Amino acid sequence: MFSSNTLSRFQSVETPFYYYDLQLLQQTLTACKAAADKYDFHVHYAMKANFNEKVIQKVQQTGFGADCVSGNEVKKAIEIGFSPDKVVFAGVGKSDREIVEALEQNIFCFNVESIQELEVINDLAAKCGKKARVAIRINPNVDAYTHANITTGLEENKFGVNQWDLPACAEVLKKSANLDLTGIHFHIGSQITNLNAFKSLCVKVNEIKAWFEERGFVLHVLNVGGGLGVDYHTTEETPIADFEAYFQIFDEFLERKSGQEIHFELGRALVAHSGSLISRVLYVKNGIKKHFLVLDAGMTELMRPALYQAYHKIENISRPGAQTSEDLKYDIVGPICESTDCFGKEVEMPESFRGDLIAIRTAGAYGEVMASKYNLREQIVSVYSGS
Ligand SMILES: *Cc1c(COP(=O)(O)O)cnc(C)c1O
Repeated sequence: MFSSNTLSRFQSVETPFYYYDLQLLQQTLTACKAAADKYDFHVHYAMKANFNEKVIQKVQQTGFGADCVSGNEVKKAIEIGFSPDKVVFAGVGKSDREIVEALEQNIFCFNVESIQELEVINDLAAKCGKKARVAIRINPNVDAYTHANITTGLEENKFGVNQWDLPACAEVLKKSANLDLTGIHFHIGSQITNLNAFKSLCVKVNEIKAWFEERGFVLHVLNVGGGLGVDYHTTEETPIADFEAYFQIFDEFLERKSGQEIHFELGRALVAHSGSLISRVLYVKNGIKKHFLVLDAGMTELMRPALYQAYHKIENISRPGAQTSEDLKYDIVGPICESTDCFGKEVEMPESFRGDLIAIRTAGAYGEVMASKYNLREQIVSVYSGS
């Protein structure tokens, strides 16, 4: 729960806004760093999860690298202070301009998602007189047991190179003078809570790694992506993801040669719990069967429920400790002209009134960064605790 100090601070800020608990963020980053260091694992933060400046500054200070999925993310990462040799650039559709700019910055590695992209990067690198470090993103056909819209490692997904295309990839790599293969890359999906998915990934990585090594390729880096999930139901009870258990799986199941680096790209698990969307009840609408709380925040501020039917815990923070009753459930909706603009259906809440403050928890990942201007909404602002 929020402290009374924080709550009184909320009263003076115009809603809606994002609230970041920077102390919790720091604790999370520190916990992840310590767990990774134990195995000498390298973490790159997936910037797309949250590129709020205060957030990425903290991430940078912790010593992580940056995993970027657009040219602007690459620029931003370097601007904030990430050393270019800790920046990787993934994405299924990198434009020529984005590639050239990243080449000029001498980033650590391009995670390449198709054979044609390999050829294009080789050509552009030749024109710039550079050698591009690349890792092949391979689609391991591993099910992440997560929501279909955030599964990325199946053959039907658009991401990565499929295994049957590896011989063709190897051909291109061998004849491309301006490419330097650093390793192989995988990312099977997001919000993965069944850790068995990562075991299956390790088995696949070992197999594919052997395939490359048998053909004389030296792999300096095995990049296993991100995807570690958080528990959206237990924001208070488990505010920090179990990084220990996660890394331990890779230590146990991944075959690693001496000198081979293991890289991770975590996004959500590092930032999700430290953010909340704070909003006010504008109206209470009582129907015959339904009660609605109409908030001043909507899918334009937090799109996850509309985009992937995501669950977020919703609390009336103006009435801490007030009783809820089985008989009083609210559909919690926003003001946007879309039926999917709904944060939760049949949510058990204490009786709520116009003006009450509502917190939508665990909104630090894929929240603020997905905000849109739809309906010509105001730009969402952020408030921070700690420093
Ligand atoms: C989104 C993404 C990540 C981070 O995923 P999380 O679920 O937030 O950990 C990592 N790598 C790549 C290539 C991604 O696209």
